[in-house]
Parts: sequence; structure tokens; C-alpha cells
Amino acid sequence: MAFSLTRTPRELVFRSATLTRRDWITPTYARLRFEGHDLRGFGSLGSDDHIRVFFRNPDGEPSTDPAVLRTGVSREYTPFAWDADAGILDLEFVIHGDAGVAGPWAATAPLGSTVGIGGPRGSLVMNGQPDGWFLAGDETALPAIKRFLSIMRADAIGTVFVEVTDAAFEQALDAPAGITVRWVHRGNAPESSILGSALDSLGAADRPAGDVFAFIAAEQSIVRSGRALVFDRWQLDPATAIVKGYWKRGEAEYHAPH
Ligand SMILES: Cc1cc2nc3c(=O)[nH]c(=O)nc-3n(C[C@H](O)[C@H](O)[C@H](O)COP(=O)(O)OP(=O)(O)OC[C@H]3O[C@@H](n4cnc5c(N)ncnc54)[C@H](O)[C@@H]3O)c2cc1C
Repeated sequence: MAFSLTRTPRELVFRSATLTRRDWITPTYARLRFEGHDLRGFGSLGSDDHIRVFFRNPDGEPSTDPAVLRTGVSREYTPFAWDADAGILDLEFVIHGDAGVAGPWAATAPLGSTVGIGGPRGSLVMNGQPDGWFLAGDETALPAIKRFLSIMRADAIGTVFVEVTDAAFEQALDAPAGITVRWVHRGNAPESSILGSALDSLGAADRPAGDVFAFIAAEQSIVRSGRALVFDRWQLDPATAIVKGYWKRGEAEYHAPH
């Protein structure tokens, strides 16, 4: 096997952090910078790691007291980039409308607002490199997909599928030359449905050669198409593929099975 994934536990640390910057990447996707002394030493070994972000009401007094921050509602996010010496952590948020807590907070919280950050509690660490990569997701999976792209060797081969609303919501991805990036547009169709159709249209002949790593994450209904592709038609070893619902339509605070 050209690569393996090793589950590496990590001591759970709770940190406070202050929102210091917001950059809009598309009209519904923003990168937020968090800073603070507590973020010194932050680390994340796995490209699909997740942390739990605890949000306070942005109208409330900013607090860095862990006991206060822990009372906020929390959601799961992917550590996108960090500087452990400077105490900086960047997260990327899908701004999906007025519903929920995290999306509206990410869009509107004033700079200086505080959050609590728990984790990552463990990581799936890639050792070696696969012969072929297959990554697929919606916008919520883009931070993880970008992290996977960043660890690929320059001669990596594979395909990335990303579902977004339309061309205006596509993002520049830094991918090696051998990685084909395909944007699929959902338009007004339900999230994951067009990505699901794209996966359903792939057959055994589309399987990359050799030892393949697959990561598929999007709205929960992607799981059926994702599993059918990688486990039934491509016969990948479950130890080398990740297929997850990152959120569920109509359900707040969906907990993906880990
Ligand atoms: C391991 C993991 C890593 C994740 N990493 C990221 C990440 O880096 N960036 C990111 O943006 N998200 C990420 N997510 C998804 C994020 O946790 C969910 O989208 C979360 O539900 C958002 O919380 P909320 O408070 O905005 O909405 P909630 O209160 O959870 O939900 C309110 C309503 O909004 C809907 N909703 C939730 N998310 C979306 C969405 N993306 N699009 C449309 N409708 C939605 C729900 O179905 C519900 O009807 C990740 C999820 C997991 C499991």
C-alpha cells in the first residue's frame, strides 16, 4: 500500500480566540482570522480534522473566560491555516443564509468578538502518498479539500469535484498539474443532488489506478452516492476512504458520525 491513514488522538484543549479579520472569497464564503494567546501551540495533523467553535451572541460583551465561552452553542469547522507561534488561526465559513448560528455569526460578528475553540481531539494522519486521489465535496468540504491539495506531491494524479451554486461561486484552487478540478453547478437544485449525480455517473473504468485515497463530504445525502462509488464500484478499502455528511438539510447542529 502506497499510503495509510493513522488515527492519532490528541489531548482536548479549550482555547479562547478573538475575531480579527474577515475576507470574503465569494458572496457566500468567508475566511475569518482568529487571534489570541491561547492559540499559541495550536496544531492540526489531519487535513480533514475538525474543531468545535463555541459562539457567543455577537451583541454580548466579548469574553475570554473559558467558563463563559463554553456556554455558547457550538458547531464543527475545519482548521484551515494557522501560525502556532503567532497565535493565529484561519477558518473558512459557508454563509448559508439567516438560519442557524455559525453562518450568521461568521457573516456579521464585529471584529473583536470572541469564540471558544475546542480540539482537534484527534487526527487521521496520512503516511506516504496515494497513487491516485479522488476528492469531492460541497463548499463546507472546501477547507479540507484545500488542505489535501496542499499536501499532495507535485506529481500527484487525481480528480476533485466541487459542487457550488454557479460559476460565480467557484474559487481558485492551487492543484498540482495532474489533478483535474471539476466544478459542478447546482443552480436551484438541492445541495448534494448534482454532486451525487456526478458521482453516480462514474463507473468502475473511472477508478484511478493503484492505491486510491478518496475523501467525499457534503450535505448528508451525498453519503449514499459516495459509498456506492468508492466501496461498491471501486472496491476501495474502507481504511483508505472517508465518506461523510458534513451537514444535513433541515437539521440544526447535525452530528456527522465519526
Ligand atoms: C467534520 C466537519 C467539518 C466541517 N467543516 C466546515 C468548514 O470548515 N466550513 C463550513 O462552512 N462548514 C463546515 N462544516 C459544516 C458545518 O458544521 C455545518 O454547516 C453547520 O451546520 C453550520 O452551523 P449553523 O449554525 O450555521 O447552522 P445550523 O444551526 O447547524 O443549521 C441551521 C439550518 O441551516 C442549514 N445548514 C447548515 N449548514 C448549511 C450549509 N452549509 N448550507 C446550507 N444550509 C445549511 C441546516 O440544514 C439547518 O436547516 C463541517 C462539518 C463537519 C461535520
